[in-house]
Amino acid sequence: MKKITDIFDEKPWTLSFEFFPPKTDKGRQRLWESAEALAGLGADFFSVTYGAGGSESHATLDVVLGLLYRHDVAVMHHLTCIKHTYREIREQLAAMSRVGVRNIMALRGDPRKDEPDFVPGPDQPKYAYQLVEIIHELRGDWFCTGVAAFPEGHPMAGTVQLDSQYLRIKQDRGADFAVTQLFFNNDVYLRFVDRVRDAGVSMRLIPGLLPVVNYEKLVQFCNTCGATIPKEVHEIFEPIKNDPEETRKRGIDFAVRQCQDLINRGAPGLHLYCLNRAEPARTIVDAVDF
Ligand SMILES: Cc1cc2nc3c(=O)[nH]c(=O)nc-3n(C[C@H](O)[C@H](O)[C@H](O)COP(=O)(O)OP(=O)(O)OC[C@H]3O[C@@H](n4cnc5c(N)ncnc54)[C@H](O)[C@@H]3O)c2cc1C
Repeated sequence: MKKITDIFDEKPWTLSFEFFPPKTDKGRQRLWESAEALAGLGADFFSVTYGAGGSESHATLDVVLGLLYRHDVAVMHHLTCIKHTYREIREQLAAMSRVGVRNIMALRGDPRKDEPDFVPGPDQPKYAYQLVEIIHELRGDWFCTGVAAFPEGHPMAGTVQLDSQYLRIKQDRGADFAVTQLFFNNDVYLRFVDRVRDAGVSMRLIPGLLPVVNYEKLVQFCNTCGATIPKEVHEIFEPIKNDPEETRKRGIDFAVRQCQDLINRGAPGLHLYCLNRAEPARTIVDAVDF
């Protein structure tokens, strides 16, 4: 499997799509069909999320291997460290490299909702940079490592300046690139890029984008991940929240404008949180002039 950094060597920007491991056979079938359609759009890589709180780790690997078997597209395996010991992580990485996984999104993860006061033990990493370090020490030449970045700052970070320093630490410990949390205001992303460049971060910062398909779920998700929904977005989607077809249409319009503007302003790619569906990602990508 290609490392994502090899793709970077060939291309100044990339198109990528994020999936999550489905829980049912029907969901799995839909994921394979969506991946088929999105691979046909020229996807440079896929990524597959890891269960919250480190749960269901095998599910991510199953989907990663299923995608690798079906498509000639690089796949990135998300991995969180919050609930794993150093030893478990090393074993998991060794197993992943044995089956050919080369791209890892190294994350801290969040405690489960029923364990809000969870504190990692002395044998468990506390931050994502420690996972990056393990990956690099174990097989830095084999793995390519992505990390998460937060245009508005991570909700638990003291300040955006501190958050920029923490991103720099992830880069210094071996991260190759970052994918951002979703955002709706491109100025916020561009200011973030300037801020972290000033802090010495030179790796690619790929914008992560979520096309709006359901207003109420969006509000719920942003409440947990801390991403701001601008007034403009509330004004478009709140009045039509009970009309799925209109929401879909306006969601596509908004995403096409946002993606086009990002491309025009030099973003090094688009990473679409496609929620295991080919649509509306396919319509959006078709409409954007790259
Ligand atoms: C693109 C993307 C993909 C994601 N995929 C998943 C997934 O598959 N599964 C999942 O469970 N979650 C996923 N998440 C969510 C992520 O796990 C959470 O947002 C988590 O709270 C932060 O993870 P992190 O890797 O950025 O952590 P870290 O980089 O460790 O940061 C966590 C917090 O600690 C602070 N911090 C970092 N380094 C230090 C330091 N050296 N000293 C003091 N403080 C520090 C940061 O400012 C931040 O507040 C994803 C997020 C993004 C943006």
